[in-house]
Amino acid sequence: MAQIIDGKVIAGRIKDELKGRVADYKAAGVEITLAVIQVGCDPASSVYVNNKKKACEYIGIKSLAYELGDETTQEELLKIICDLNNRDDVNGILVQLPVPKHIDEDLVIKSINPKKDVDGFHPESVGALCIGQPGFVSCTPAGIIQLLKRSNVDIEGKECVVIGRSNIVGKPMALLLLRENGTVTIAHSRTKNLKEVAKRADILVAAIGKPKFINKEYVKDGAVIIDVGIHRMENGKLCGDVDFDDVIDTVSAITPVPGGVGPMTIAMLMNNCVESVEIQRSK
Ligand code: NAP
Repeated sequence: MAQIIDGKVIAGRIKDELKGRVADYKAAGVEITLAVIQVGCDPASSVYVNNKKKACEYIGIKSLAYELGDETTQEELLKIICDLNNRDDVNGILVQLPVPKHIDEDLVIKSINPKKDVDGFHPESVGALCIGQPGFVSCTPAGIIQLLKRSNVDIEGKECVVIGRSNIVGKPMALLLLRENGTVTIAHSRTKNLKEVAKRADILVAAIGKPKFINKEYVKDGAVIIDVGIHRMENGKLCGDVDFDDVIDTVSAITPVPGGVGPMTIAMLMNNCVESVEIQRSK
């Protein structure tokens, strides 16, 4: 029987651990504050921002909400980020992506002080990860490492195949698996013989963005599958990049969608907010 890796339960535990740490900081007179900036009113972004606010509330982190209109100029947004960079009472700054098209997303990411970059997207954070130095790590891949560790899946020496090479999931995922001493392959849309490559994996991470793309033809017997994808099907239900029903008898463990990787992303964002206190102290 395959182990179903329950991201909801694991994320809940992490949040409770963080709640304790935040309470300790509070008792020592330290309040943690996250500034969340949303530009425009994209409904999906509003849901994400709301979930982040709720998580902050639960853990005891103060959240400052900046809900800016679609017409906000790049200059105005950069000015707000600059002010937040300079405020000692703000530990983390998050700009909900995507931003409207007239704003340069890369520039926005680069304008956040790396010591407050709780999303882990700043080039300095990515560079630190690359050369094994401390810094913020992108939340979804960081959450996947927690899912594996807390489900007693050994990474060291394992064949790890990551399908997808985006800056926010695939690439940092591969770097984190490498940091844990996995033997890592990154596959993408130009990879030849993807099925054969994927079938080598002891740990297969699917971050492709295509519903139910991975079936049992891609999966080695006994592999651990991490499904990052999230898609709304015509019947309203959610599914991942993996055809769960097709692979379930082949795998030793798998994350479901929903309830697998998804809940971990916000838990790790909260973790980064708590870690920010130490990162800022190391100035
Ligand atoms: P992305 O930026 O679209 O990247 C997709 C990657 O998959 C690309 O590297 C692409 O290769 C590769 N790919 C596409 N078609 C392929 C194929 N036929 N064979 C092999 N590789 C293929 O997506 P992303 O931002 O990484 O997100 C991936 C999925 O995870 C999406 O469904 C997204 O919604 C979900 N997601 C979930 C969470 C969460 O919290 N659960 C967080 C982030 C993302 P190329 O580089 O060659 O184009």
